[in-house]
Amino acid sequence: MLENLGNRFQDIMKKVRGHGKLSESNIKEALREVRMSLLEADVNYKVVKEFVAKIQEKAIGAEVLTGINPGQQFIKIVNDELVELLGGTNSRLTKSAKNPTVVMLAGLQGAGKTTFAGKLAKYLKKQGEKPYLIGADIYRPAAMKQLEVLAQQVGVDVYFELGSNDAVGICERGLEKAKEAGATYLIIDTAGRLHIDEKLMEELKEVKKVVRPQEILLVVDAMIGQDAVNLAQSFNNALSIDGVVLTKFDGDTRGGAALSVKSVVGKPIKFVGTGEKIDDLELFHPERLASRILGMGDVVSLVEKAQEAIGEEDAKSLEEKIRTQKFDLDDFLKQLQNIKKLGSLGNILKMIPGMGQIGDLAPAEKEMKKVEAIIQSMTREERKKPEILKASRKLRIAKGSGTEVADINKLLKQFEQMREMMKMFSTGKFPQLPGMGGR
Ligand code: GDP
Repeated sequence: MLENLGNRFQDIMKKVRGHGKLSESNIKEALREVRMSLLEADVNYKVVKEFVAKIQEKAIGAEVLTGINPGQQFIKIVNDELVELLGGTNSRLTKSAKNPTVVMLAGLQGAGKTTFAGKLAKYLKKQGEKPYLIGADIYRPAAMKQLEVLAQQVGVDVYFELGSNDAVGICERGLEKAKEAGATYLIIDTAGRLHIDEKLMEELKEVKKVVRPQEILLVVDAMIGQDAVNLAQSFNNALSIDGVVLTKFDGDTRGGAALSVKSVVGKPIKFVGTGEKIDDLELFHPERLASRILGMGDVVSLVEKAQEAIGEEDAKSLEEKIRTQKFDLDDFLKQLQNIKKLGSLGNILKMIPGMGQIGDLAPAEKEMKKVEAIIQSMTREERKKPEILKASRKLRIAKGSGTEVADINKLLKQFEQMREMMKMFSTGKFPQLPGMGGR
């Protein structure tokens, strides 16, 4: 997501950082490049103009020019403005005092509304809420079935009326059912059309009147760029939306939509969809995205993802195993699989400061797969006691995993080194490293 813009910005910032002192002409040059990159990323030209003017105003001041670290200071100004542009702070979903809080979804066909309804239900369920779904997309019968499958997957109730063409009626009856079921959130998947038209807007207004939602979220495909902003504007005029969900943020989006929606429409982006799977949903955090764009990493998101993937129990048992020196190849395999749960290596590294532009990671991912295959071809006993692995066992494992004995030897050597490291950590006996003043 936003890869090109990120790369461009990181180059500009690298140049800025390289100047010991920032002169007015340095800043103007950097700003020219900032403007070009934003326009190329399909950001609305008015938004770009204002953005650059604000930075210029803040950056071209005696304070910055005589500052201790002018390059860093400039980057901070750009970062702060970027955060502001993206909406300032994270805007959470409303929660009404009376159950259920009604969330109505709107958007064009194919935007990812139904998928998002499922993702949101899962997200809310994880927060301890009791979500309930209504399928009111009467023009795309497959949508109701799709929602039913998603609801089953998440483990929540869903209401729809196959073959009905009365969206308002479905919502009325669904709302009653949701109340009876004691739902805390009601998510309504409404009909989408290929284009905005009067009939669609009228129907959405009718639904709005009946269900009186606390939150109307417009689901927009981020891949459509500038059009996303126009679309949000039209829906906002007709329905008065509360927030935007940008889907397909994992695709090759130039980012213009994310960077323009708040300024132009005045409504915050609340969630981003980052893939087709039910867990591919993120709360939209302006500060974190700005950091990612500027190559400062997003360590907070990474830690959160890691916590989710590894879980507290696993983390505790891992800690215990390292401490008591019982870490074996099975644990190693588990760790590899946990890393995979975080996403591709490329996506993980992008969240770490300075690692965003590290180059081709395919060889490293291939290596991880190989190691996984090798361990999976071992017996339980072999995983627990790798020292019993002699020539004949190694040959069997190599055959089983489609690798060479040399690969197995390499893995065993690395594992042994890792165990040595862990021993040092757990006993506190660190080797004397030059310049580190170890114990
Ligand atoms: P609807 O017509 O608005 O209900 O759209 P759907 O929910 O059926 O989604 C349309 C297509 O977009 C489906 O193939 C989804 O799998 C896909 N999709 C939805 N959200 C995302 C996302 O965040 N990323 C990606 N890559 N695909 C998505």
